[in-house]
Order: sequence, then C-alpha cells, then structure tokens
Amino acid sequence: MSKYVDVELTQALFDCGCTNLGESRPQILWQKADQFSDRPTAAWHLIGHLQRNKIRRTIGLPSVLVHSVDSQRTLNAIADESKLQNLTTPILLEVNISGDKAKTGMTPESLKQVIPLLPLDGVQVRGLMAMAGWGTEPHIARKQFDQVRHLRDDITEEFDVPLAELSMGMSGDFAQAIAAGATMVRIGSRLFEGLR
Ligand SMILES: *Cc1c(COP(=O)(O)O)cnc(C)c1O
Repeated sequence: MSKYVDVELTQALFDCGCTNLGESRPQILWQKADQFSDRPTAAWHLIGHLQRNKIRRTIGLPSVLVHSVDSQRTLNAIADESKLQNLTTPILLEVNISGDKAKTGMTPESLKQVIPLLPLDGVQVRGLMAMAGWGTEPHIARKQFDQVRHLRDDITEEFDVPLAELSMGMSGDFAQAIAAGATMVRIGSRLFEGLR
C-alpha cells in the first residue's frame, strides 16, 4: 500500500520491487498513476470507496483493480461506464464479514443477491475483498478470514461463479489471512516502520 506516502516514496517503494501499489483515494491514485506513466509495470489497486463521479477517470487508467465495490449500485455504475469506454474493468466485491456496522462492504446476504447478476458486461469480478474488524485480535481475525473463504466456496458451489482472488489481511493480520487462503494481502504501515 502506497497510500501513506508521497510520490517520491512511492517511487522508492516501486524501485524496491513493490510494483503493486494500493491507494485509498481515487484522486491520489490518478495523480500517482500519472507520475508513473513511464513505468508500465506498475499495477494499481483502489482499496477505498469509489464515488460515482470518480468512476470514469479511475477505470480508464491502464492497470487498476478496484477492491472496494461495496454495493450493487457501484457495481452497475462501473459496468455501465466501462461499456461506454469499451472496457472490462477487473473488480473485487467487498464483503463486511466482521458484522461491524461502521465498516464498508456488503453483508453476505446482499452479496448473494448481487452474484446472480454475473457475468455482467463491463466488469470482470475476480473475487472478494474483506477486512477484519478494527482492533480484532489476530485469532478472531483468522476466523473472520475463514468465513470469507467459506462464503466464497459456498457461492462458487451454489452459483457456479468462480471468485479466485481473496484480498484480505493487513499489517497486523496478514499471516492469519494467508493461512486462511488470501491470494492478495494489503500491507501498508509495516512497510514504513522506522521511516516515520
Ligand atoms: C489502509 C488499508 C490497508 C493497510 O493497512 P495497514 O494496517 O496499514 O497495513 C489495507 N486495506 C485497506 C482497505 C486499508 O484502508
């Protein structure tokens, strides 16, 4: 995750081999992607909420995966705009597994209402994204990540929709997430310890 640092440090991170870069704010992602236009191997990950009026510019970037599709509305809006631009946008569906109402993401129930819409022209749904609740002990986080994997397995079985990617795990719980089957972890603060 490059979301905590400026363009210069983001470039340093990239030069260290971190070519997958995560941002929580669309405008910052645009800015940095622009600065990185001479580094075509950079791959961008949007992990924060994508407001409707920011969709057009975000999906037009060369390499961006939207992790944070948190409602059917957002999914449809991305699909519609992608069709207008003749694109297929890779996305993940964000699920709120912690039950924490303050958290973003769809409940497992609303997720299961969205799945029957797939496949949907304009988007390629690659998997699920989830966060453990704030301040969750690692062993509880592990259980929540296991629930995400089970949810994915249930969906695959019930709807025959493959959701290969599981984006879960942050600085404090990435080991638990990997043990639970994460295919992508989103590590931020750990990368910069001692720097700030
Ligand atoms: C900030 C953020 C991360 C990284 O968090 P750290 O604890 O700093 O590693 C991961 N995922 C999301 C959705 C975030 O907003």
